[in-house]
Amino acid sequence: MIIAIDGPAGSGKSTVAKLLAEKLNFLYLDTGAMYRALTYWLIKNNINPCLEERVVKELKKINIEFKEEKVFLNGEDVSLKIRQPLIEENISLVAKNPQVREVMVTKQREIAKNCSCVAEGRDTTTVVFPYAQVKIYLDADFSERVRRRALDFKKKNIKIEEDKLREDLRKRDEADITRKVSPLKKAEDAIYIDTTNLKIEEVVSKIYNIVLEKQEYGNR
Ligand code: C5P
Repeated sequence: MIIAIDGPAGSGKSTVAKLLAEKLNFLYLDTGAMYRALTYWLIKNNINPCLEERVVKELKKINIEFKEEKVFLNGEDVSLKIRQPLIEENISLVAKNPQVREVMVTKQREIAKNCSCVAEGRDTTTVVFPYAQVKIYLDADFSERVRRRALDFKKKNIKIEEDKLREDLRKRDEADITRKVSPLKKAEDAIYIDTTNLKIEEVVSKIYNIVLEKQEYGNR
């Protein structure tokens, strides 16, 4: 079974998807981490993310792996490094590259092949797994999403001014929604959940119940 969770930054996707995967004993696939790892590689090697062909060539040099809740790039643990604001400032330029997306989507489908998986990220319900048995679109008010992002950074000990965070999030939302290839949008058959006033556990349990219903229906 595949559960795909889409939605903007700060909607709770990652936390919810991780907890849900644990609860169901499914694989957790963080597709955003893959775009982040590539962006980290480009910055580290001083490569302009706007050079589309060059970026595609670089993809061949990198190997992204998920092990024990960590993200490895060519064997290096980059779990924390890929969460830095500098990565987020540049990631939209990388994520809008159609050839990059093609490669990433192939990798994501490969990872999810033959297993039950909770996949989260901005095109998982529309492009990567349009046939997923459960499709969820998580959302929350902009100010709540800013609050959650600020908390995320604080927990990771990353310093960022709230004004900058708000502006970065606004820009990233706009870039994700307006890009030509695989923009962020709700799939027609995705279930919309506004998480603004919900606790994480409430969102997890809502989706968990949807999954149980699907499984029961499938067994009938
Ligand atoms: O989900 P996360 O915040 O880690 O994603 C970081 C960025 O990666 C997003 O803002 C988006 O530009 C890009 N992304 C994407 N497609 C995905 C996952 C992430 O374009 N499936």
